[in-house]
Amino acid sequence: MDVIKEAYSKLIKDKAKALGFDACGFTKAEALTEEKEILRGWLDNNRHGNMQYMANHFEKRVDPSMLVEGAKSVIVLLTNYTPQKKQTDPDAPIIARYAYGQDYHHVIKDKLKLLFSYIQEEIYPELEGRYFVDSAPVLERSLGVKAGLGWIGKNTNLIHKKLGSYVFISELIINLELPASEPIKDACGGCTRCIDACPTQALIAPKTLDARKCISYLTIENKEDIPEEFVGKMENRVFGCDICQEVCPWTWKSRPHTNENLQPVTKILELTKEEWQTLNPDTFSETFRKSAIKRAKYTGLKRNIDFLLSKKQK
Ligand code: SF4
Ligand code: SF4
Repeated sequence: MDVIKEAYSKLIKDKAKALGFDACGFTKAEALTEEKEILRGWLDNNRHGNMQYMANHFEKRVDPSMLVEGAKSVIVLLTNYTPQKKQTDPDAPIIARYAYGQDYHHVIKDKLKLLFSYIQEEIYPELEGRYFVDSAPVLERSLGVKAGLGWIGKNTNLIHKKLGSYVFISELIINLELPASEPIKDACGGCTRCIDACPTQALIAPKTLDARKCISYLTIENKEDIPEEFVGKMENRVFGCDICQEVCPWTWKSRPHTNENLQPVTKILELTKEEWQTLNPDTFSETFRKSAIKRAKYTGLKRNIDFLLSKKQK
């Protein structure tokens, strides 16, 4: 049986690679007991702000086997999104790297579907399961750790030794038993660069984020006005914030991705400071038509731009 499982494992990893995934690992579909306690404490302290969905489906979130009947394994996949290019105007408001290209949800979901079909057609016709990319109550980073793909850094991101942390995490939860990958050791060591660099002190302890202080939350998830206490602290970030990843030595080693479907949208990278400042509903729709930024809607993005423009920022 083990020999067969190993053979399945190789076939699946090879196929994942051929589809453009950059790393693939397996873990058992079972309750995440340690993570359950951590998540409970985080929610109890309201560190999720108004991300109510984090509290919903709590039991499912901490136990992937509850999402698929008869689930045996989780296949966790990483997709590198380290970009080759940067925004061209150094004074333009800064967006998180993951938002440079077209909306990754669609791109990755298509690939997951192909991987699922491959397993069903070539390996296990009785295959049942579901696939997710940032779209269900799944603790993706923890599953990535269990699947041997990296460790959770002090900046709370999953860090892969070669790819760094600019990675999209996605997963298939399936009823096929696969050999669990060996977890790897945390390699942050004595480093605290991310904690020291966070402009809003949102990393309140190693691996603990107070989302209510995080620029990424404030500019994307937050539906209210950005509180005055963050005036002057936004570091010109208008949609997301990569600072705690930019300073992480593990991201310096990552190579730019070559995934055609995730290439940056030139128009977004070339927006000048003036064009950001004069963005209107029409230019918003046209520029961000295929981008994850459109999820913020025009009013959300405009709120962020206006906040950066506020005199008190200077
Ligand atoms: S994303 Fe930005 S604001 Fe949030 S923890 Fe990292 S450095 Fe701090
Ligand atoms: S900056 Fe240092 S402490 Fe923070 S995640 Fe990277 S290696 Fe870990």
